[in-house]
Amino acid sequence: MPRKLPTATIRTQVTVPLRFADGYATTARVFTFNGLADGLEHVAFGLGDRSGPFNPGQQSGPPPLVRPHSECLTGDVFGSQRCDCGAQLREAVELIADAGGYLLYLRQEGRGIGLYAKVDAYALQDEGLDTYDANLALGYAADQRDYTVAAQMVRALGLTRVALLSNNPDKAAQLGRLGVAITDRVPTGVHLSATNAGYLATKAHRGLHTLDVPALGQHAKWVIGGAEALESSKRAVKREA
Ligand SMILES: [Zn+2]
Repeated sequence: MPRKLPTATIRTQVTVPLRFADGYATTARVFTFNGLADGLEHVAFGLGDRSGPFNPGQQSGPPPLVRPHSECLTGDVFGSQRCDCGAQLREAVELIADAGGYLLYLRQEGRGIGLYAKVDAYALQDEGLDTYDANLALGYAADQRDYTVAAQMVRALGLTRVALLSNNPDKAAQLGRLGVAITDRVPTGVHLSATNAGYLATKAHRGLHTLDVPALGQHAKWVIGGAEALESSKRAVKREA
């Protein structure tokens, strides 16, 4: 039985033109909400055929591609290479703009522990703990994220079924329990760099993410650049469609 979901409603919607550092540009319809369960300011970006004013009757066609993206100030804004969040966000915006759908920007910094605690965890990682053990050492769960607000936004946007852009099985499981009908799971690309390889390997092994991260010794022949990863993700979206 799906958990009972508190009702959220659209509060404001505006059109925002986007341009990323690499020059990629598109247009988003940005939505804010009333009634989100944790009282935080989560926002949805409608992209592609969802970048116009909200139309509750827009149900025809394939299910919209939806990505819940957890805020990462260091990665999303400053391009931190300790994680792949910035590259994932950039990729998701283009994939969703092509397919039509929504990016749900969730204010869950550091897997829900907050910015300062995330930086504390980085300090512990520099002493040798992996990303999950560092969170545990600070007294937090390995992953504190709760996707109730994502499910609330999906419902407020009138979506009865979605294709989920994610490698994280916990997102799919939580959203399913919250009553979101997921028709497809579309994987995101792997954005490997010399500095985030350990993080990605941990994410794959400890978080059970469906990432194909090579053994650390094989970096040299395996590094996938952002553009190539984006193209392979686009091929995956096409296959799913
Ligand atoms: Zn990050």
